[in-house]
Amino acid sequence: MGFTIPDRDLTPSEFVIHRLYDITSRYDEGLPAQMEGLLRLGLERFGLDIGIVSLIVEDTYEVVAAVAPEGVALGPGDTFELGNTYCSVTIGSTGPVGFECAAESEFATHPAYGIFKLEAYIGLPIHVNGELYGTLNFSSAAARERSFEAADLDALRLMGSWLSTEIGRRETEEQLVAAQRNLENLVRTDPLTDLANRRGLEMALKGFSRRCSLDGTSLSCVLVDIDDFKQVNDQFGHAAGDRVIQAVARCLRTSLRPGDVAARVGGDEFMAVLPGATAEQAGAVATRVGHAVRRLSVQADAGPIPVTVSIGVAGVESHITSVTELLSQTQELLRESKAAGKDSVTLDEIRA
Ligand code: GH3
Ligand code: MG
Repeated sequence: MGFTIPDRDLTPSEFVIHRLYDITSRYDEGLPAQMEGLLRLGLERFGLDIGIVSLIVEDTYEVVAAVAPEGVALGPGDTFELGNTYCSVTIGSTGPVGFECAAESEFATHPAYGIFKLEAYIGLPIHVNGELYGTLNFSSAAARERSFEAADLDALRLMGSWLSTEIGRRETEEQLVAAQRNLENLVRTDPLTDLANRRGLEMALKGFSRRCSLDGTSLSCVLVDIDDFKQVNDQFGHAAGDRVIQAVARCLRTSLRPGDVAARVGGDEFMAVLPGATAEQAGAVATRVGHAVRRLSVQADAGPIPVTVSIGVAGVESHITSVTELLSQTQELLRESKAAGKDSVTLDEIRA
């Protein structure tokens, strides 16, 4: 058990640091909960009753987090014209801006005073990674009897500094997570076709295999190879060849069900894995792919490119998790299709 220091023994700045530490340690509750804690701390410290973290984009002031008395409808997502808020002045300042009684200050003529009738206000611009983010501000309809003192300004600066660090940290974290997701996608995707690559297929296979083993359903594999593709490249050029690969990939993708996966496993070779499909069902899919490819109309300067594919289809054991193993079960069938004159499908059942 840790020991607690009674709040009354702390200086105002120590009190704020102490409570900020508390808020920081609630990282797992998320930034909105932490912001609410911060606003409550400010309200308590300044004796005001409306606390807001705002995001300012051009002329729009958007509420990111707010604590307000009952009856004051104010919440995240509410927007105001920046010019109608005291914060339009705050963002031009390098430090805190505040007044105890607007009516008796230069703010008496500010549009915000006319609209919201807030007498007391203290706010600070928040910068994140060197750019203006918005403000942290506290206000109240009632004038404040005591003047804001140096300790109040210090407290606000401390809260603001924590807030800008925290928002920056979360933004960086989100960017890192997004970059990592992007990278993971890249390493498992074939850039030419946007289908999975070998690694992506292997990852999908692990999930399928686990599921199929659990519920005892079958798994089928379809291996597709473009016929005479070398000739396509020679006759129509490599770029046209690329477009043929992309078109065949589309045929394959659109012939599958949502839970299936298609991958490019070689230059002109594709594999589809169909969890829960029997070899016959997969054979029907393969026949559809063959038809769709035959109907393709890929244009080249020298005219339309005729495209056909040869296919091998096998029902496979659901424990298989390697692409190499799937290839070894389907390559012979594919060869049979090639030997039979290409543009055809050869089907096999589960092999022991
Ligand atoms: P088969 O009917 O027996 O399959 O004959 P094929 O000519 O298709 O022979 P093969 O499958 O061996 O040829 C594949 C060719 O695909 C060889 C290679 O130059 C070409 N290739 C591999 N990757 C790419 C690519 O990304 N783009 C293009 N345009 N061609 C590629
Ligand atoms: Mg080929």
